[in-house]
Amino acid sequence: MITRDTIDKINETAQIEEVVGDFVTLKKRGANLLGLCPFHNEKTPSFTVSPAKGIYKCFGCGVAGNSVNFVMELEHKSYPEALRYLADKYKIEVEETEAPSQELIEERNERDSIFIANAFAQRFYTDQLFNTEVGQSVGLSYFKERGFTTETIQKFQLGYAPDSYDAFTQAAIKEGYQLDILKKAGLASTKYDKPMDFFRDRVQFTIHDFSGKVVGFGGRTLKNDKKIPKYVNTAETDVYNKSKILYGLFFSKNDIRREDECIMVEGYTDVISLHQAGIGNVVSSSGTSLTVEQVRAIKRLTTHITIIYDGDPAGIKAALRGIDLILADDMNVRVVMLPEGEDPDSYVKSVGATEFRAYKEENSKDFILFKTDLLMKDAGKDPVKRTEVVRDTVGSIALIPDAIKRSLYIKECSALMDVQEQILITEVNKLRGQKLAKDQKASRDEISQAEPNIPIEHDQSQPEEKVDSRSAILRQERDIVRLLLSYGNLEFEEEVLVSQVILHELEEDEIVFENAVCQQIVTTYAELIENGEVPDAKYFTDSEDKALSQMAIDLLHSPYDLSENWDRMHQIIVTDSRFLFKKDITSSLCRYKIEKLALLLKENKQAIKEASEKEDGEEELMELLKTRQAYLEMRKKLGDMLGTVIWR
Ligand code: ZN
Repeated sequence: MITRDTIDKINETAQIEEVVGDFVTLKKRGANLLGLCPFHNEKTPSFTVSPAKGIYKCFGCGVAGNSVNFVMELEHKSYPEALRYLADKYKIEVEETEAPSQELIEERNERDSIFIANAFAQRFYTDQLFNTEVGQSVGLSYFKERGFTTETIQKFQLGYAPDSYDAFTQAAIKEGYQLDILKKAGLASTKYDKPMDFFRDRVQFTIHDFSGKVVGFGGRTLKNDKKIPKYVNTAETDVYNKSKILYGLFFSKNDIRREDECIMVEGYTDVISLHQAGIGNVVSSSGTSLTVEQVRAIKRLTTHITIIYDGDPAGIKAALRGIDLILADDMNVRVVMLPEGEDPDSYVKSVGATEFRAYKEENSKDFILFKTDLLMKDAGKDPVKRTEVVRDTVGSIALIPDAIKRSLYIKECSALMDVQEQILITEVNKLRGQKLAKDQKASRDEISQAEPNIPIEHDQSQPEEKVDSRSAILRQERDIVRLLLSYGNLEFEEEVLVSQVILHELEEDEIVFENAVCQQIVTTYAELIENGEVPDAKYFTDSEDKALSQMAIDLLHSPYDLSENWDRMHQIIVTDSRFLFKKDITSSLCRYKIEKLALLLKENKQAIKEASEKEDGEEELMELLKTRQAYLEMRKKLGDMLGTVIWR
């Protein structure tokens, strides 16, 4: 286990705006930062980051958390994995209490070893390219012919794998790398019981992950032999997942953010050439059609994708297959066809960056219209094929979340396909209706799992009133916990802490909160106080327990936070007007008890009614009436305390 010390150090060092900023473009808004939420689709930013509090919160979908939570959620990492990621980012040494399990060490070591082996391989291939005769005459001259400068070759860490059975593997083994790891990294294999290089006689393109670590290679043969595949890539390894990696993203991410556009091209050399020409917002999905993960990676940086195609319509159609999912993700996709016989590499070389950009602007077409047009032309007059195209197009349009955009598409496509607009509208609505029903069910399932305490669908047999007072109680509980977290470590009176007052009040009346998480916070707080520790809010917002930290963040980072005055107001309350929060606490506790009493009184009334209908209910009735009297007195006292007599 990672030590508490290390966790604290990570939490102290990690700057939420930097951690989030690696994935989301943030703009300053008052004391906070604002950006597009990476967890749900949106066009108007509702994702706020508070550097002062070290937390993020989305007012669109409700996600909230600190730096560690962010990494966990976005990158689907476990708690320790997220800590390690942050430790790595901030160069913090990770200490562990007990030795981690052998299995875990091996797994972690193996991943690290693969990265290290990959880095060694990259240095080896680059060294071969620059410093051997054959590397220079075959590899380097090829790159130079393509117009790559030395600077570009070094930046993209290009290389050359020699025409040898095992030159790389032997060099690696000599340096102390184990054959086993080289094989797991996809760099070597075994043939006839002898180690063999995976890449032989190829120029090497180094593939990096989002943070710039080497995850694999693409090797291109320079031979004209049809039997030899033009490209071979690293097979899937523990660190290289083809569907997640976009070639060039590491070099392009800042430009993509800045330009608010991501240009997609097909090949490695397209990416490199455009970069060298000064067009830096370019990536390639390296031959495979786009995947959901790749789209998500882009979406963290921009919602605008421009796909540049060269080549034949068949290739284009294959590449288009992945695109519907981009629409569902609410991206704006445009397509550019280059002049015949040109690819991005050759075209930017012949016309230069300025003209390349101008051409792209002038010739980019909306994806759906582009696709519809292309498929319609392909279908010709064949009614069956034409119907298929209509169906396909309707399916694409139905995926667009924005209603205005949908209706514009319907209009344009109806003209393109020569189909009545109304028919398209009906079909699109039908598909969306089905999708909506499915989504609603999914989100209902999600909510009822997350908050088992709050009834989603009101039980018909339950009177409306009861539900009301119950939700009032739940609201009040949250308010008390909010006050506990915000002001618990301040003095209520001399030598008496706010937390002590609250905990004492709750204990005295033997109150157990209905919301389990709220209760857990109270219990944890009480235990710490008992041990002489006074926790601050961070103790809970940084908690390892997701439900706990989520609740704490929710309560502390309320929507009022959006107002720019809030932070100031907050400060005034804490530092200058202590009486304000004292009043807050007293009234919150009162209100809570009053709500509880209201519920008890209602139950009592029902019991009285039942007892009075019984033949031998006299004694019971007397007891119940006594209880009622006590309740009423208590309520009056609480009401007086509140300053208003609540009598209903
Ligand atoms: Zn959101």
